[in-house]
Amino acid sequence: MKTPQLLNYERDRWIAGDGDLAEISSAIDGEPVATTGSGGIDFGGMLRHAREVGGPALRKLTFHERARMIKALGLAIMARKEELYELNYLTGATRKDGWIDIEGGAGTLFSFSSKGRRELPDAHVLLDGQLEGLSKQGTFVGQHIYTPLQGAAVHINAFNFPVWGMLEKLAPTLLAGVAAIVKPASATAYLAEAAFRIMTEAKILPPGAIQLIVGGVGDLFDHLTGQDVVSFTGSAHTALKLRTHPTVIRESVRFVAEQDSLNASLLGPDAAPGTPEFDLFVREVATEMTVKAGQKCTAIRRAMAPAQYLDAVQQALAERLAKTKVGDPRAEDTRMGALVSVSQRDDVREKIAQLEAAGARIVAGDPNADPPIPGGAFLRPVLLRTDEPWRTDAVHDCEPFGPVSTIMPYKDIGDAIALANRGKGSLVLSLFTHSPDAAREFVQGAAAHHGRMLVIDRTNAAENTGHGSPLPVLVHGGPGRAGGSEEMGGVRGVKHYMQRTAIQSSPAMIAAITEQYIPGAPKHVIEVHPFRLKMSELHIGDTWKTASRTVTLEDIEHFAEFTGDKFYAHMDEEAARASPIFEGRVAHGYLILSFAAGLFVDPDPGPVLANTGLENLRFLTPLYPGDSMRVELSVRSKSLKSDETGVVRWAVEIFNQEDELVATYDLLTENVP
Ligand code: NAP
Repeated sequence: MKTPQLLNYERDRWIAGDGDLAEISSAIDGEPVATTGSGGIDFGGMLRHAREVGGPALRKLTFHERARMIKALGLAIMARKEELYELNYLTGATRKDGWIDIEGGAGTLFSFSSKGRRELPDAHVLLDGQLEGLSKQGTFVGQHIYTPLQGAAVHINAFNFPVWGMLEKLAPTLLAGVAAIVKPASATAYLAEAAFRIMTEAKILPPGAIQLIVGGVGDLFDHLTGQDVVSFTGSAHTALKLRTHPTVIRESVRFVAEQDSLNASLLGPDAAPGTPEFDLFVREVATEMTVKAGQKCTAIRRAMAPAQYLDAVQQALAERLAKTKVGDPRAEDTRMGALVSVSQRDDVREKIAQLEAAGARIVAGDPNADPPIPGGAFLRPVLLRTDEPWRTDAVHDCEPFGPVSTIMPYKDIGDAIALANRGKGSLVLSLFTHSPDAAREFVQGAAAHHGRMLVIDRTNAAENTGHGSPLPVLVHGGPGRAGGSEEMGGVRGVKHYMQRTAIQSSPAMIAAITEQYIPGAPKHVIEVHPFRLKMSELHIGDTWKTASRTVTLEDIEHFAEFTGDKFYAHMDEEAARASPIFEGRVAHGYLILSFAAGLFVDPDPGPVLANTGLENLRFLTPLYPGDSMRVELSVRSKSLKSDETGVVRWAVEIFNQEDELVATYDLLTENVP
């Protein structure tokens, strides 16, 4: 049977590359799986298509509309996940490994979708921070905003997680409103292509939103502009080559890099053999060495322990690793499958030899053992040890991208911090300790060198998400050697594909530009009570003005007795006068809020279902007995949560009889759409 050829998705058409094709082999037995190539592809045309077709279509949608599409993509992947699991085995990965890649990828889409609907407005512009007052009368203000870049996002992915790696970049990119061109690593491009095909066949995205290159990127980099973003995952070597491309430098192309990293894990000074933290540490190091056959950018390459516990660590790890069944990833009892390819396995063997030459010695595993299946890219886990981590430079620098880790001793926490930081920047570091003092000293001493840190002890043993799992809501990335960038991290990751701009104008203009009501902007006073209107009948800037009421001394005393809040400023005239803030007794802030609700609430059941919160509360002018107060309630923004409910954010402004602002806050209500 002819080996199938992978196809490129160029300008919304599937196209076979011509010219020389590369053959991709199965990790299990070396048999051909597919051929791939991108000869003849119009790379400049792909970039133009993303900029002129995909980007504009995505930018027409709001954050919430894009968030719903991202969820639909996740559902499409889940509906056809078994097709992907079948291909996953050919990469050498077990079903459990595949779960991280395939369902972890879909889960990342779901997570971004839900973050997008909860944390981003149902609008086209994202505000950054609060309004900045720039003038005495408030007619000239400043507001930072984010808008989508108008170029293409070029995603270059590593081989190890072909589905997750693609989706963790696509989710924030599409949510931002930017079209993407995906280039998966060749070794596992057949799995990425299959997942990509599922997304295009689901017909969820507008034309031009995503394109695929299976093979080299040709002259694509020559056509990049300052509106494009390159988001790269892979080796430091390739990252350096791409980030120093003349066009990237000349056009100031945004370059996000996730590189290799010598991640460390530390056994705390308190975690002697026999403690739960000791056992957790051994389990985590062994897990990180064997999941995905150690081909994880976050895997533990350096395991550090107090010198007096190192022998015990070695023994416990060696016993655990010896029990790891290595073999056909399709077999249910297999714990670790194969590396992605024979050349990858040979690369790992070479790196092990480099570590040995530098003074580390193998204490468990044999890198040259025969593979369980002839032709397969298998390698048993290999544990190395160095007793002189200050003299064995290679252990802090050389990354065998496979089931390999080196154990080493440290003297005290200062020594451990210095050793951990010798990796010159890592994605993740874990510390196993039950001592808050050790955790504080260690994290404060090392955090600047690491993108993510876990402190694991007996209290979070059952629920921690593990050293090696990047999470969509937390940043993934690290300084220096790790690439100097961040990905994911919820909305933070979306901003990598947007431009921040400082806008200066009148409140009315800022409100029009941002599609949100801004205090000081014109209001549209409505006659029907807004609690009688569904979300779809409410408009941004619609304002309800209440009647006013007087606040009496009896009200203040009644409230004090009723609630027990007898703070001097409300109950002691002399002390209140003596304070630098008040001229006498004042109404409680909470009394003002309660009276405000009494003024603006319309009591009967209706489209407003519940009050779900209050944000940005400020008390600005004290209210004295005899003063009166009134409220203006304006629709600031609206967002749909589902077909049944949505959230309305109201700007609440409380004024006194002089029209001075007494208090402002945002009120959140759950509403019928
Ligand atoms: P790699 O050789 O650097 O390849 C990474 C990607 O770059 C692949 O898609 C590759 O495509 C592409 N590429 C290579 N040369 C290129 C060029 N001149 N122009 C455009 N694209 C080019 O890395 P790898 O060996 O596949 O991956 C393993 C490495 O990635 C390890 O060092 C690991 O630590 C790192 N990694 C880091 C993370 C992270 O999140 N930080 C995650 C996973 C892996 P081809 O495959 O077609 O050559």
